[in-house]
Amino acid sequence: MESSLGVYVHIPFCARVCPYCDFAVEAVEAPGRRGAASGDWRETEDRYIEGLLAELALRAATFSGRSLSSIYFGGGTPSLLRPESLARIREAVMAAFPPGPARPEITLEVNPSTLERERLPGFRAEAGINRLSVGVQSFDDSLLKALGRAHGADESRRTLEAARRAGFDDLSVDLLFAALHQTPEMLEADLDEAVAFGPEHISSYELVFEARTPFGRALADGRFSPYPEEGSASMVERIEERLVNAGYRRYELTNYARPGHEAVHNRRYWQRLPVLGLGVGAHSTDPSGPGRAYGARHGNPRARGAWLAGVEAGVWPIGEEEPLSREDAMAEACFLALRCAEGLDEAGFAEEFGVAPREPFGPAIDRFLGEGLLEESGPGRLILSRRGRMLADTVCAEFV
Ligand code: SF4
Repeated sequence: MESSLGVYVHIPFCARVCPYCDFAVEAVEAPGRRGAASGDWRETEDRYIEGLLAELALRAATFSGRSLSSIYFGGGTPSLLRPESLARIREAVMAAFPPGPARPEITLEVNPSTLERERLPGFRAEAGINRLSVGVQSFDDSLLKALGRAHGADESRRTLEAARRAGFDDLSVDLLFAALHQTPEMLEADLDEAVAFGPEHISSYELVFEARTPFGRALADGRFSPYPEEGSASMVERIEERLVNAGYRRYELTNYARPGHEAVHNRRYWQRLPVLGLGVGAHSTDPSGPGRAYGARHGNPRARGAWLAGVEAGVWPIGEEEPLSREDAMAEACFLALRCAEGLDEAGFAEEFGVAPREPFGPAIDRFLGEGLLEESGPGRLILSRRGRMLADTVCAEFV
């Protein structure tokens, strides 16, 4: 029986909040950004770490007996924290969930800056981080500026080089596409530079205008226009072509990896494996148990004050909890599997739910097969076709 666990740790602090960001984040005056570390920041950091440890103690029982396969420090900008702070969390998580024989993947999201570069050796040696996800977004300064990012392209280059020097051999680079004034030529230059650097993993995300962000409001007011659909679709195609030719495999719709470097933690979400999410706004995938045969989703409060008040008072659950129905679980099993290169294993689905996927979803599957958006990949396995990958949102929405 599957008994592994991934732990997501959300750090909601950033040096500046980007105008398109819809994550649970807040701007802080962190060290190295606007002068030296202030007493306030140190106190904020320490109190937040204590809160994470308290939440871990409160929630560990739900996941007891599981062996740790990954920790993901995301945000926000978790690299604003001191290595010793990250080490405290890692040690507590590993004590609660001792890893199995395989070394757990421990990822840290890093934003390019001088502060982070100086801390890289400490992140590796002291905090035990073995994978970095670097928020490059683009190597074009005009685009970074328009996106409101706090870093320039040279900061990214220096951070990637410093990461290699510090001994990190598992690097992921985030790139944005279909963003503002980005042209196909600008995307091409970003891909060229990323490939030339040779990270083990590349994630490519389309810029999304979420309604509650400044960019979302600008779109609603007509101050921005959405990126032309055709332009973004051809960028998706070009990214796949360029990265696959460079030796990466598109193992999930937005993720490319060299063989053996697929993200262990992120795969858990697509495989619907348990994840304990700690911190402000963190989401969890709780395992099945009494009264929730298909597990549950849990979302922590997005406001730091509400989350801290709960964990410091030792009160649980806080936030929203949603047990999954059989119908929800079947829908998720289909659309999450279709996001991945392996696709949907019909026999595995039937084993879990007692019915073949064609029973609840026959009309949708037949239609997409007929339209060439889905295809059979070996017996009993459905995958998105090339055109299906370009229209993935439309296909996946049909299963929800
Ligand atoms: S750095 Fe990342 S998490 Fe922070 S505000 Fe910008 S997009 Fe959001």
